[in-house]
Amino acid sequence: GYHKVVKENQKLYNMVQDLKGSIRVYCRIRPSFNSESGNVINFIGEDSSLVILDPAKPQKDGRKAFQFNRVFGPTASQDEVFKDTQPLIRSVMDGYNVCIFAYGQTGSGKTHTMSGPSGGSAADMGINYLALSDLFQMSNKRKDIIDYDICVQMVEIYNEQVRDLLAEDSSTAKLEIRSCTGDNGLSIPDGTMHSVKSSTDVLNLMKFGEMNRMVSSTAINNRSSRSHSVLTVHVNGKDTSGGTLRSCLHLVDLAGSERVDKSEVTGDRLKEAQYINKSLSCLGDVIAALAQKNSHIPYRNSKLTLLLQDSLGGHAKTLMLAHVSPEEDSFSETISTLKFAQRVSTVELGAARSNKGSGEVMQLKEQIESLKKALANKE
Ligand code: ADP
Ligand code: MG
Repeated sequence: GYHKVVKENQKLYNMVQDLKGSIRVYCRIRPSFNSESGNVINFIGEDSSLVILDPAKPQKDGRKAFQFNRVFGPTASQDEVFKDTQPLIRSVMDGYNVCIFAYGQTGSGKTHTMSGPSGGSAADMGINYLALSDLFQMSNKRKDIIDYDICVQMVEIYNEQVRDLLAEDSSTAKLEIRSCTGDNGLSIPDGTMHSVKSSTDVLNLMKFGEMNRMVSSTAINNRSSRSHSVLTVHVNGKDTSGGTLRSCLHLVDLAGSERVDKSEVTGDRLKEAQYINKSLSCLGDVIAALAQKNSHIPYRNSKLTLLLQDSLGGHAKTLMLAHVSPEEDSFSETISTLKFAQRVSTVELGAARSNKGSGEVMQLKEQIESLKKALANKE
């Protein structure tokens, strides 16, 4: 029964197959809020995959072009971003593990993309909410053939400690991660797990989790930008012939990637910064190792990669959403975000060269070359 459903949706299925085992990188540029500061980012065309940095003031790194699977400009809507993410999210219902994470400096729009604007209007909901609504719709469409059960967990990782954001009593909320998924297949077996049946259930849980996060942040100002938050959706399916499938979707709002000036911070702030730095570079190392098909993948080097292990690598699908601010004063952080993202995506495009997609890659490379020339001529 299950295969029939999949075939009915042939187009989607093909898209899903294209994404099989792959690492994709999208870049989102948020609108500018500072009219004083010049904008340093240009991007190209409607279906763009290029980001051009073009600072007015001379900068150490100068002009640069970056290429990604997809680039969303400042006017892109939440729905547009979601639409390009949807096939990936839907593949969870076919038994794939998926990990989507938002990367970027504080203020670049990560939370906007994942959760939506704070106190959000219903029209501007982020990927977390849209994804779950979509999964409920799919589950309903397939209900005569597969019986789905959807559950969520929500945790935060702060200073390499995992905290349960859905626990009623947050003092008992410290969690352990299983490196090898045990009998029940969960990497956080003791984390609070809620079965969800509707978008309203999801909204309520997300609010509860956010509140839990805020309560603990009074002592340490603006903690949310210095911890990783992970919403995990567990999907269990049973089809009419007794077949089962189990998969999960991790939706991750990462801690801000900005580097802090070591001469200016000390004590707790320095410790925080070092933990963030370490876990983000571990994430980069894991993805780069996967893209290069290394035999050893260093999952164990951070809590974050350990937690995401089941949805990074193997047949899992990974999407990195790199967020950048367009303003001149963010230039050096923007460069470092794009380099981090490029490190992951270049390798992936290189690996794809032997496939039939290589023509497209070559075209894009030619496009980059001609753009570089055009930029050089402008000088
Ligand atoms: P981060 O989570 O990366 O620190 P936020 O998502 O909190 O950044 O975004 C910073 C501010 O910019 C927020 O006020 C947010 O609502 C706004 N913002 C971010 N991205 C967009 C966007 N694409 N469109 C409109 N406003 C945005
Ligand atoms: Mg945020």
